[in-house]
Formats: sequence, C-alpha cells, structure tokens
Amino acid sequence: MRLIYETVERINIMLLTISAKCHACPTINSIEVFSDDYRNYFHNNQLVQNVWPDLTPSQREVIMGHSNNFYLCDTCWGDEE
Ligand SMILES: [Zn+2]
Repeated sequence: MRLIYETVERINIMLLTISAKCHACPTINSIEVFSDDYRNYFHNNQLVQNVWPDLTPSQREVIMGHSNNFYLCDTCWGDEE
C-alpha cells in the first residue's frame, strides 16, 4: 500500500513545461509548473496570480499566453508601450 501511495504522490507533483510563442517575433518562452497548479488554473478557473503568487509577471504571461493562444514576449510588450 505504501508503494502505491508514493506512486500517486509522484504523479501529483509532476512538472509540466508550458511554452508560448510570441505573436510578434520568433521568441518562444517556457516555464515549468506543477501539474496540479496548472489543473487548478486551467480547469478550475483560478486566477493565475492566486495559483502562482511567486511568479514574476512575465512568467505569468507565458502561462496565460499558452492558454489564450496569444503571447507577447517581454521585448515585444515593451515595444507596444
Ligand atoms: Zn516577441
């Protein structure tokens, strides 16, 4: 039983690599997140800043860009302002 429990735990803390391609240039940025956190964000409609309070705004952009299919890298964001 112990072995099964540990296996389940390892699945729960699986890391996912989320990547997003910039809409305006060839840059692709990626970030590693825990699968549980991503599930919370994507399926339970949690706010990105609540799920990942420690991420920088540009890291959050990668996650949001990945799920919206629209991403601008830091450089291109800067150009628009
Ligand atoms: Zn860009």
